[in-house]
Amino acid sequence: MIIAIDGPSGTGKSTVAKEVARRLGFVYFDTGAMYRAFAWKSLQEQIAPTDEEGLRRLIEHFQFDIQTDRSGEKHYLVNDVDVTHKIRVQEISNLSSQISIYPFVRQAMVKIQRRFGHKLNVVFEGRDMGTVVFPEAELKIFLTARPEVRAERRYRELLVKFPDLANTLSQEQILREIEERDYKDSTRAISPLRQANDSILIDTSDSKAEEVVDRILQLYAQTKQNKKSSLMHGSYRFVVAIFRFVLKLFYRLRVYGKVHFRPGAAVIAANHVSYFDPPIISVSCPEEVHFLAREPLFRVPIFGKIIRALNSHPVSRDASDAHTFRVLIQLLQAGQKVILFPEGSRSLDGQLQPLERGLAFLVYKARCTILPVYVDGAYKAWKRGSRLPRPYGRIRCVFGSPIEWGEFEGLDKKEAMERITKRTESAIIALKNWLDNGAVGDPP
Ligand code: C5P
Repeated sequence: MIIAIDGPSGTGKSTVAKEVARRLGFVYFDTGAMYRAFAWKSLQEQIAPTDEEGLRRLIEHFQFDIQTDRSGEKHYLVNDVDVTHKIRVQEISNLSSQISIYPFVRQAMVKIQRRFGHKLNVVFEGRDMGTVVFPEAELKIFLTARPEVRAERRYRELLVKFPDLANTLSQEQILREIEERDYKDSTRAISPLRQANDSILIDTSDSKAEEVVDRILQLYAQTKQNKKSSLMHGSYRFVVAIFRFVLKLFYRLRVYGKVHFRPGAAVIAANHVSYFDPPIISVSCPEEVHFLAREPLFRVPIFGKIIRALNSHPVSRDASDAHTFRVLIQLLQAGQKVILFPEGSRSLDGQLQPLERGLAFLVYKARCTILPVYVDGAYKAWKRGSRLPRPYGRIRCVFGSPIEWGEFEGLDKKEAMERITKRTESAIIALKNWLDNGAVGDPP
């Protein structure tokens, strides 16, 4: 398995990636060290970062090697010179982001990185691991932190490594350099630093490294679990295939935004207009999902059987909210995705309704991701009050970009719940608008 960890400097990337690799027994690969090593070589050879031709010649003779000593420490070698410590100075940090803009430099580095990727289990750390080098990585993490926090971390790190610099180092200058490097790294034409659509964002500003490591290990466990269960079980797969076929044939079902799916627990929060909504969303998801349904629905002929096979969990009409809540929490804690209709009940006129507090309560408790969804056309197909569905129509299901728990981390309960509700509500409205405006590109 490949774990890709990207993000700017000072987010704790190296510490976290190294520890994750150690705890899982994976190989650790720091791709920044390669760019640094090449920058160091260019400095040695006195080739300016603007001298494209000189750098092009240099890369042809650039030999990079990694050796591990007896204590397990990695050593980086450039044409047999050990540069492990030499590449950590600020001058090389700045130079590496200048030389890394060239396509021929990146291509040479990526080639070496992919070769390493064939080893079975590796944690890769860099800027473009999830987007360019290993877009197929099973687990992608993107670390961020506030610039001031990053500058302070970098300052401390440099002081430990180079105590003689104590009088010359300034935190303000490091902050300026970090911001400059971020700008260069994220605006370059090729492989800019950016979060992959399917990577998980973790803000490390207010967390200790161990907490971040634990979170990634948890995500790793869920990814493994999902991998196992993504082989949909037989009857689920069968019912999904049949129902998808029916929805496509009679209702021209179209699904948008599958790129927004990622491993792990999430609440799939959708608007609600029809009994059709849960099966529509289930068959539109690229993986197995769960939902709750009122017990009497399980007694409806055929329909009851369909929803049972689709991982629905019965809640009796007089089940307390606490019971329903427990079922949901258990599913989320097991790393599952659960469909929820935070408007509470089906809309009477097909229009969006304000969200109730249940979603916020659940997300606050489970600290999980929200995947917003907008379903269009289900109201006409089977509106509230009609005993049977209309046998034709057009149904569209739109998945929006995930709302990560990190957005609400650190807020007090009341504020977090308000924000979760507002954020989800506006995400669903944005999906409706995107669809109404012609569905151009990926859904927001
Ligand atoms: O991660 P680190 O700070 O060691 O990276 C040094 C520089 O190397 C970055 O600022 C970036 O310009 C470049 N780099 C890159 N792609 C990577 C890793 C690092 O462009 N995958």
